[in-house]
This record gives sequence, structure tokens and C-alpha cells, in this order.
Amino acid sequence: MSTAIAGFTEQCARINHRIARAARAAGREGAGVTLVAVSKQQPEARIEAALAAGQRVFGENRVQEAAARWAHRREGLQLRLIGQLQSNKAEDAVALFDAIESLDRPSLARALAEAMDRLDRRPEIFVQVNTGAEPQKGGVLPGHADAFIATLRRDFQIEPAGLMVIPPMEEEPAMHFALLARIAARNGISRLSMGMSGDFETAVRLGATHVRIGSELFGPRPLAIRTE
Ligand SMILES: *Cc1c(COP(=O)(O)O)cnc(C)c1O
Repeated sequence: MSTAIAGFTEQCARINHRIARAARAAGREGAGVTLVAVSKQQPEARIEAALAAGQRVFGENRVQEAAARWAHRREGLQLRLIGQLQSNKAEDAVALFDAIESLDRPSLARALAEAMDRLDRRPEIFVQVNTGAEPQKGGVLPGHADAFIATLRRDFQIEPAGLMVIPPMEEEPAMHFALLARIAARNGISRLSMGMSGDFETAVRLGATHVRIGSELFGPRPLAIRTE
């Protein structure tokens, strides 16, 4: 086994161990927590190592970058879109991804619903919630989340599989994760995509079912300016 593959396997095991420990501490042992390997901007060699090590679930934040990276070896993978999505790319996103985690507005819901009908393909849809009400971030405001989820169900026949959050950088993430969990519970939604390299254990303690981990798993992204 090459050192790159062994290195990935080892780092993956370490993270899974930390996930399991956090789940145990919260009385969630046995809870399914999916480790989403965030591959955006990572060099091809690291992706190859991850694939060779058996990683199959990947997160990307841009549709075109993801298509270039994955379209030719799509088979057997689970691809998740975790970045903001423009309505004019909805069809490309539906065609490529198994899950779209960033639905946050009716215009995009319409575009996704139409694309899903046209392509007869139904990726899992997560609603992104902007718990910190940050203007530069996507996501529905927490106070609008219940109404938005009701609109998805009633007007677009979209049943959200989960909720997603990216907490503000400078705040304690726990209260944001707890808020997301409360919104999900009162809307009958069971999956929570929350937690990144710096805070995934907190997220697991608060109920995360999907943690999105990039730099801690692969190493730092070389093009650090293009992270969001
Ligand atoms: C880049 C990104 C991540 C991964 O971030 P790391 O800090 O490298 O783990 C997770 N979620 C989203 C939405 C991202 O854009």
C-alpha cells in the first residue's frame, strides 16, 4: 500500500474514532454518522488515495468543479453538494449529485423540482439554515425555516431529508447545532448535516448524522482563498 493511501486510511480511522467517542459521550452509540469527505480544491493525488483507501462519500461545493472531478468515475460513489447553488445550475446538480444540501429559497426549490421531474432523478434534499443570519451566507433564516419547509412540502412536493448549517466562524458552534436540531425535530426531519474539521465532535454530540470534513481528513486545501 502506498504511503498516501495508508495515510488517508489512518486519518480516516482517527476521525471515525473521535466521532464514535463523541457519540458515546452523548449516549448516541450506534448512531449512524456519515463521514462526508469534502474533496473541493484538493489535489488529485489525495483524491486517488482516498478512493484507493475505500472512501465513497464525498462533498463538493461547486457543480462544475465536481462534474470535472467526478463525472468520469461516478459509479459506486455518493456525491453531496454542500455549496450554494444557482437556479440555472439546478439541472446539472440534479444530474450529478445524490444529495443537495443547500436548498434555501423558493426559486431554487422550483428549479430543482422541475429538474427532478425532467430527469426523473430524486437526490436527497437538505434545507440549509443560516442560524447566524449572516448576510454573505446561504440558508433560510431560522425564523423562516418552518414556513419554508411547509412550502416545500405543499407547493413543490419536496420532502426534505435533512437540514444543514455552517455556523458563524467567530461564534461557539454548539448553540447553532442545537438550534438546527430543534428546527429539525419540530418539523419531523431526522438528518442533520453539521460539523466540519474544527467542530465535528460538538456536532456529533448534538445529533449530527453527517459531518463534512475537508482539511482534517485530506490536509489543508492548497487554494485557501476559494473556500466558500
Ligand atoms: C469546505 C467546507 C467544509 C469542510 O471544511 P473543513 O474545515 O476543511 O473541514 C464543510 N462544509 C462546507 C459547506 C464547506 O464549504
